[in-house]
Amino acid sequence: MTFPPLREELRGIAPYGAPQLDVPVQLNVNENPYGPSQSVVDDVAASVAAATTALNRYPDREFTELRTALAAYLNSSGGSGITPDQVWAANGSNEVMLQLLQAFGGPGRTAVSFAPTYSMYPEYARDAMTGWVVGHRESDFSLDLDAARALVLEERPTVVLLPSPNNPTGTALPPEAVSTLCAAAGDGIVVVDEAYGEFRRSGTPSALELLATHRNLVVTRTMSKAFALAGARVGYLAAAPEICDAIRVVRLPYHLSAVTQATALAALRHAAELLGRVDDLRAERDETVRWLREQGLEVADSDANFALFGRFEDRHAVWQGLLDRGVLIRETGPDGWLRVSIGTADEMAAFRQALTQVR
Ligand code: PMP
Repeated sequence: MTFPPLREELRGIAPYGAPQLDVPVQLNVNENPYGPSQSVVDDVAASVAAATTALNRYPDREFTELRTALAAYLNSSGGSGITPDQVWAANGSNEVMLQLLQAFGGPGRTAVSFAPTYSMYPEYARDAMTGWVVGHRESDFSLDLDAARALVLEERPTVVLLPSPNNPTGTALPPEAVSTLCAAAGDGIVVVDEAYGEFRRSGTPSALELLATHRNLVVTRTMSKAFALAGARVGYLAAAPEICDAIRVVRLPYHLSAVTQATALAALRHAAELLGRVDDLRAERDETVRWLREQGLEVADSDANFALFGRFEDRHAVWQGLLDRGVLIRETGPDGWLRVSIGTADEMAAFRQALTQVR
C-alpha cells in the first residue's frame, strides 16, 4: 500500500515535544509541581461525575458558563470590564493560538515574532500555511522597540506573537512595547501570550490593562501553569468580540468536551486555593535566580516559573550530567543556555546539588 507524500514542508520533521523521561526530578516543561489539594480534586470529580450523566449529548458548543467564569477571573487578575463575549477557550492555549492563525493567517499572509521566542509559534504558522518572519531580541532578551516597530511596518503581518513573560527567557515586555506594536500592526492582531502571567514579579503589569485601548490586542492565558492543570488542557483568550467571532468560523464544533468544561469550572471555583502556591513558586524562582548568579552564571530576569541560565561551552554535557543525577531540565534557548522549571523546595535543592557536582 502506498500513501500520498507528506506536504513538502513537513517531510523529515520530528513531532514537537520535550523528552518524557521517567526521572525523579522533572523540571523540563514548566509545570506546577503542586497538584491540586484533595478538596479541589473532590469537587472536580463531583463536577465531572455530574457531567457524565449527559455524555450522550454534545456539550455546550458556546461554553457560556465557562466563558463567564473566565471573564470574572480575568477581571480579578489584571483585567477590568472584560465581558464573556470577549473570552474564548480551547484545549490549551496552544490550540487557542493555532485557531488564531487559522482565522487570521493563511497563504500570502505573515506572522511575526522576535527570537528567542516560544518554539511552537513557527509550527502554528506552518500548519496554518502562513509565512513566518522572526526578528531578534537584544543580548539581554529585551526588545529594541524601534527595530521591532520597523519590522512590523515592513512585513505588515496579520499576526504578531509576543510571549510575555517570554518562553524560554522568562522576561516580560513593558506595556509601551505592546502599545507601540499594536499601533504599528494596523489591522493586524497582536497576541500577547501570558501563559505565565500569574507568575509576574510585583510591578510588572499585564497586557490585559491595555485591552480597552487597543482593539487589535489579544491576550492569551492558560490553566496549565499557575492553576496547576496542565493535564486538563484549558487555555483561553480575551480580545474584542469580533476576534472571538472570527475564531468561531474555524473552530471544530464542540471542541471543548463536557468533561473539560466541568473540570475548568470546578477549578475556577477554587481559583484562590489553586493559585495559593504561586507566591511560594515566585519566591523559589527568585531564590534560584539569585543562587545561579552567585555561582557566576548568567541568568535572564524571570517573571515566569522557570529560569534561563548559561552560558556553557557544552550545554548538552551539563544537561546530561544533571539527567545522570536524576534531574531533568530543558535544552532550549540560544546556544549555551539551559532552562530549569521551578519545582518544590526539595526539587530545587536536588537541582542545585546536581549542578554543583556537574560543574
Ligand atoms: N505559551 C507559552 C509561552 C508556553 O510556554 C506554553 C506551554 N509550554 C504555551 C503557550 C501552551 O500551553 P498550554 O497549551 O498548555 O496552554
